[in-house]
Amino acid sequence: MADHSISTSEVSVTPDLDSAWKSCLELVREDIPTPYISSMIDPLRLVSIEEDCCTISVPNSFLKDIVADRYIDGLTSSLSRVIGRRVHVLLTVLSPPPVVESVASRGSQLREPHNRNSAVVTSPPERKNYSFENFIVGDSNKFAYSAAIMVAEFPGRNYNPLFIYGGTGLGKTHLLHSIKAYATAMSPGSRITYVQTSKFIDEFIATITLKKDKSIFDQKYINNKIVLFDDIQALSTTDATQNKFFDIFNVLYSANSHIVLTSDRPPVEIPQLSDRIRSRFEGGLMIDIMPPDIETRVAILRMKVEAESVEIPDDCLIFIASKVKDNIRSLEGLFHRVVAYAKLYGTKIDLSMVQYVLKDLVSETPLSRTPSVELIQNTVSDYYHIPLEDLVSKSRSRPLVQGRQVAMYLCRELTDETLLAIGRQFGNRDHSTVIHSCSKVESMLKEKRDMFQEVTQLTNNINKSL
Ligand code: ADP
Ligand code: MG
Repeated sequence: MADHSISTSEVSVTPDLDSAWKSCLELVREDIPTPYISSMIDPLRLVSIEEDCCTISVPNSFLKDIVADRYIDGLTSSLSRVIGRRVHVLLTVLSPPPVVESVASRGSQLREPHNRNSAVVTSPPERKNYSFENFIVGDSNKFAYSAAIMVAEFPGRNYNPLFIYGGTGLGKTHLLHSIKAYATAMSPGSRITYVQTSKFIDEFIATITLKKDKSIFDQKYINNKIVLFDDIQALSTTDATQNKFFDIFNVLYSANSHIVLTSDRPPVEIPQLSDRIRSRFEGGLMIDIMPPDIETRVAILRMKVEAESVEIPDDCLIFIASKVKDNIRSLEGLFHRVVAYAKLYGTKIDLSMVQYVLKDLVSETPLSRTPSVELIQNTVSDYYHIPLEDLVSKSRSRPLVQGRQVAMYLCRELTDETLLAIGRQFGNRDHSTVIHSCSKVESMLKEKRDMFQEVTQLTNNINKSL
């Protein structure tokens, strides 16, 4: 039972629960890397000590599995030392007490508690706190995951550069941000820079064309312990850009800084990539990420269930996971639709409900094509009767703004484009505008039935035009 108290008779024979737990944590901390403490260990509580058995509560079964797998031995030996006799440890899932608020505060390990209104919990893609802890490891990504951890722990030691490639939505960006978060937590002073390659190119071009101080650009990328270049396939542009990149790469490499690159394809398939850069990439460690198997997809959904604190039976998760095979972002999209529908209509989530909600959203045969931003813009423009020029214009009139937000949301959900690229195709807007639009639409989907229906209808129209 969820009883956090302990009777005084128990306290009299063993150390007081609080102090035993505190001392145990001090011991455990020595062996667990700092970034894992706040998310893996802090949520645990020692709830009872009886004879040779200590019970520790965990807030959810996801964390329970991780603790059982990785930390149980450390906890057991630390508790035994503190208590002064050999004990074994039982893990028990106790949901945190007050219902709505605790969902948000527990969930804050996985997302920033930002812009939440009432009980609606929003989790737009870029707000998520990307870390190794919320990266599910399966056969398809385990090598990339281990190599990423290795770089974060021992930058510059092995596998330099690390080149991770694989299809869109398979977790490459997630891994880069995890490296940054973990390495920063391990050695707070070191400089670690993440950059989208297209942004790197834009900055370089701006430096040249606006005749800015070149050394500022160079210093930003050179003086780093780790530099993470995301979507390096974008480098297939001019020679000048590639030369600049090559110089920076060489300086970093000879200074023993770690360079990590991701790409949607292997180096040999990146068009116009100079031979000397390609051979640099191939001289390090190249690892591909494959589409996740069904178990991994279900595990990802389970983690989201815990984070959103919703109840979804396993058969529903398996059904959702069976619908999207090769893009985790799309998988998350379907999951959010189901949750949004349930919140909106106050319905329980069961298999028939999920089948109903996803009926028209995913075709029976896997989608072989991804819609273009233009197709989405045209479809939205027709649907709301907003001329295309207005949709991508700077105008801030109300109906226009909403239509534009929906169009951006659909681009984010249905295409492989980056936030930067989407922003650009909507009148050169900043990527933060795209993030804002997506989170706005996500909240509305959970609050307004007409919005849910419009977005569903639009998705169907787009799928039909493919
Ligand atoms: P990519 O950069 O390869 O296109 P992302 O890193 O943007 O893919 O991942 C797309 C979405 O899927 C993100 O929300 C990410 O958190 C999620 N995701 C991808 N792989 C995993 C994983 N193994 N575990 C949990 N979430 C994942
Ligand atoms: Mg990415």
